[in-house]
Amino acid sequence: MAYPYTVQRGDTLYRIARKTGISLGELAAANPQLEGTVLYPGQVLTIPDPVPRHYEVQRGDTFYEIAKRFNISLEDLLRANPGVDPGRMPIGTRLVLPPSRGMAVVVPAWPYGYPEVTEDLQLLQLRYPFLEVVEIGESVLGKPLPAVKIGEGPVRVHVNAAIHANEWITAAAAMKMVEELSAAYQSGTPLQGKDVRSLLSSVTLWVVPMLNPDGVELVQEGLTAEHPYSAQLLEWNGGSYDFQGWKANIRGVDLNDQFPAGWETERDRRAVSGPGPRDWPGEAPLTEPEVIAIAEFTRNNGFRVVVALHTQGQEIYYTYRGLEPPISSVMAEDFARVSGYTPVPNIESDAGYKDWFIQEYRLPGFTIEAGKGANPLPADQFPAIKREITAIVLESLRRAPEVEAGD
Ligand SMILES: [Zn+2]
Repeated sequence: MAYPYTVQRGDTLYRIARKTGISLGELAAANPQLEGTVLYPGQVLTIPDPVPRHYEVQRGDTFYEIAKRFNISLEDLLRANPGVDPGRMPIGTRLVLPPSRGMAVVVPAWPYGYPEVTEDLQLLQLRYPFLEVVEIGESVLGKPLPAVKIGEGPVRVHVNAAIHANEWITAAAAMKMVEELSAAYQSGTPLQGKDVRSLLSSVTLWVVPMLNPDGVELVQEGLTAEHPYSAQLLEWNGGSYDFQGWKANIRGVDLNDQFPAGWETERDRRAVSGPGPRDWPGEAPLTEPEVIAIAEFTRNNGFRVVVALHTQGQEIYYTYRGLEPPISSVMAEDFARVSGYTPVPNIESDAGYKDWFIQEYRLPGFTIEAGKGANPLPADQFPAIKREITAIVLESLRRAPEVEAGD
């Protein structure tokens, strides 16, 4: 059902479309009187209804989840259904769906963990049916590792986040970026001044938002007596119940020291003798299921550019032993321009994901150290980090078609 909207000071058609969760095209079609005129405050526009007007409650539905799925505020949904008890809705209850006011799916509640990633991916898929979600493998504790695809171009770009447990703010930022890209892709509106539809017609983006969910869970929720690795984790953490410094997976292996690219050199440099919060590369490369999954996923997809999201330092790492192609430094400068981060050549590092990707394919691979401070970074850094990594990823999408495929 269409409803009226009164233009406010500062409104543009673009902002109204964003606010009401419809596309610019739908807004223009519903308001033919606007053609060739200027908006003014107090003017009344027609907002077409972007959602079905009724919904029948299915098994397993909750009131909250339905509100989120249709992008309707809880308050609006309650008001539209005065006879319904949200705590006791029989299957088949017919709900009235009031107009959406453009609520977001990804609301980075703190902490933003694995349950949020999986639920938000489902909700994003309902709202943006062009998104594809696949499982690339499982964590040590059996959590499926999701990857989400957006775009339809022949050139593939990959972004992954939260390979280090206490850097989980990167998962929240990656998920929010996927939502913003999806909204822009669907509506045809630009994101950070970039034409997302055009970019995603030549490039396909695959995002793995949380590579180390067991580790993230440990950092966020702490250790319980029932945890299957309870005794070992306490020992590996030096007897402390404070896991805020934990980067590794649940077996105490640093997943970003696990790739077969100078692994022995990294092991000797780190000189860590066994499992722990960070820097233990394992007994050999590629022993951990999370690393095996991302390596296979990378091998099977022929990515042209990869971006691994970490915190912190506001830095861009783009080299590996001189094996990177010349365009890597050009792209690092692009990334620096849009994010304010600093390109850092020649860091002492081996066995990381980007190191391995560059060595294997001689294509541009990047580690982005987002934000600044002590991990896990606080919630107030989220808006800036999200904006900066989105800017970097948009640049990688823009450059990817120029990158020559390696041999
Ligand atoms: Zn890291």
